[in-house]
Amino acid sequence: MNGRLMAALAPALAAALLLAGCTQPLPQRSPVGEVADYEAVYKLDPEGHTLSAEVTARWAPAELDTFFFLLHRDLQVAEAGTERGAHGELLALAEGKSIPIRMRPHLPDTSWFDDGGHLALYALPVASTADTVALRFSYTGVIHDEVEVPEFSRWEIADETTGLIDERGAFLVPGTGYYPALPGAYHLSRFTTTIEHPDEWEALVEGNLLAREPGRARFDSAHPLDGSYLVAGPYVLSTREDSSFTVAMYHYGNDEQLAERYLDASANYLADYEELIGPYPFERFSVVENWFPTGYGMASYTLLGSQVLRLPFIIYTSLGHEVCHNWWGNGVLVDYERGNWCEGLTTYQADYRFKLERSAGEAKQYRLDLLRDYSDYVIRGDEQDFPLREFTSRTTAGTRTIGYGKAMMVFHMIERRIGTEEFESALRDLYYERRFRLTGWRHFFERFAEAEGTDLDWYERQWIDDDGAPMFEVANELVHHAGDGSGYLLEFDLRQVQDARPFRLDVPIRLHFASDSTAEHVLRDVNGETYHARVPAGARPVRFDVDPDFHVFRALDPAEAPPTLSGFYAADEPVVVLPTGGTQAMRDAYREFAEALFRRTDARYVREDSLELFDPGERSLLRFGNEHGARRVLETPEADGLSVRNSALALAWASRSADDPTVVNMQVWAASPHALDQLPRKLPHYGKYSYLAFSAGENVAKGQWPVTQSPLIVELPD
Ligand SMILES: [Zn+2]
Repeated sequence: MNGRLMAALAPALAAALLLAGCTQPLPQRSPVGEVADYEAVYKLDPEGHTLSAEVTARWAPAELDTFFFLLHRDLQVAEAGTERGAHGELLALAEGKSIPIRMRPHLPDTSWFDDGGHLALYALPVASTADTVALRFSYTGVIHDEVEVPEFSRWEIADETTGLIDERGAFLVPGTGYYPALPGAYHLSRFTTTIEHPDEWEALVEGNLLAREPGRARFDSAHPLDGSYLVAGPYVLSTREDSSFTVAMYHYGNDEQLAERYLDASANYLADYEELIGPYPFERFSVVENWFPTGYGMASYTLLGSQVLRLPFIIYTSLGHEVCHNWWGNGVLVDYERGNWCEGLTTYQADYRFKLERSAGEAKQYRLDLLRDYSDYVIRGDEQDFPLREFTSRTTAGTRTIGYGKAMMVFHMIERRIGTEEFESALRDLYYERRFRLTGWRHFFERFAEAEGTDLDWYERQWIDDDGAPMFEVANELVHHAGDGSGYLLEFDLRQVQDARPFRLDVPIRLHFASDSTAEHVLRDVNGETYHARVPAGARPVRFDVDPDFHVFRALDPAEAPPTLSGFYAADEPVVVLPTGGTQAMRDAYREFAEALFRRTDARYVREDSLELFDPGERSLLRFGNEHGARRVLETPEADGLSVRNSALALAWASRSADDPTVVNMQVWAASPHALDQLPRKLPHYGKYSYLAFSAGENVAKGQWPVTQSPLIVELPD
């Protein structure tokens, strides 16, 4: 590379890098320009793992005379230039580090300048003064990065590859660098894509199908997208025509019934969201089976691994979630520089809504589980809290808890504040107005504020720009006759005891009366470290609960959440208390059970009769054979009909330590040694429950203990 060209490139590159790190609003046009549209023909050769491409990119140069682009380093560029061939010499500037595969490929990321990755950065000098320059590229090469299981797999159902083409299929994503993309820039382009593939294959990208014949498919993205995802493979294509769209399933042809079920479910979800939010933005929706595990939602299609597709709950949960992303995320686009709101809203209008449709109880449980996750992973766990403004995508249980769970609760609290009808109509308006435009939290709060008639800047500051959550305490409660003789008045102090500054909140209160009836009340705009609450009541309340249904995103008191077995599994170096009573066979079986359960975890073993000498301190205990506790499990409604006389019965349950309520213990009881046979393998799948019953290794009852004692349940004196 000669010195003159280097000097010419430097300012533009610096600008691109600055853009990547900046938190200021993005300029209308980025310093590297924009690609208005791509018109491409991709030819896939599975045997040779080879991609051959002819691409025209219409570039709006933003006063630059150099087109910088990223491309997979193994693609040999045969041609790059303007349509008339007027261009300088193509320069390879750097070969960079892999950009991690994620749903949004153009997140600012400068790490590709490091060595060792799969992308190369090129500079193409272009002599043109036109507003838009048509650049033509042709290139070919091998793309084959073998699929790997990611490190973070606990929440992630996707295996990872930066892209590959082989006999099993082709998987090419924007991060692959299979088309010339601008570095560091976040912008939208339209894509017209032709895919040439083996005759026995099918292929697709986002958008509408223009033409399909053996060995060839042509698509139009229909709307601007922030990247294009290409999938192909030996698929059978099943379709269903609806009045306004086509539902398609690309599958491996070995389970027609499964395909039918997915077509039905997809059509139902699409109709459902059209009614809830607005028209589906494409002519077509596809469910695509994948030979390696994925759970991705692209615009107009979802890519689900073969095993994932066959998990019985996926059709009721993940499929709806991915369909909903066509409105939120792929319809209204996320301005990632200002925080990703789309996972929270999609979770709210899919996963959470499905629970709510089943019952209020399931919805409440879902909210409680979210708050518990926040307590477990962030407050008491070892993950850092952070503001929603900084959320882009989930990488850990903690980032998921905040980016999905807390964000969902931010929408939930607003809905309760302005009313469901206003909330849904605000979202419909926003969808209509912001489709295919980069959209931030701000746009939502503007809509909600309009519905409320006041500004919600404080709400956005508190929930999006700041981290943390309120934690409540009650003090100085008293009941007296109301001065005007109209009944009673309950007064108490509601304290916010978190380290962070106090939140402004609406807090639901439930009053209980001697007649067993209850009354709901909402404290509007609670504020300050101590808020003096006054709640009128017709009759004399005997008890009140603060936010008993978990409508507020807040830090739970440990006693508010029933203990679950996952609380025990999360413990460091638990203590196994080996029983000294009972038969030798039973004692051996309990010991073997513990050794199998802790095969991969450190545990301490101590005999029951020397536990006092041992002093377990804050460690969690695993104990055995407690008949009294076993009876408590069998008295729950879920365990109705189960009996200790069933010799195949085994029970497990969680309880809080009397000394330290943050410590969760586990107890196991079995009717016979063989009843424990399959338990060590099965138990870890049931972590969210407080108690479990198994008969011959099959789960026959599961549930959570009711919460009867909590600092936010306050009994009132007569
Ligand atoms: Zn999602």
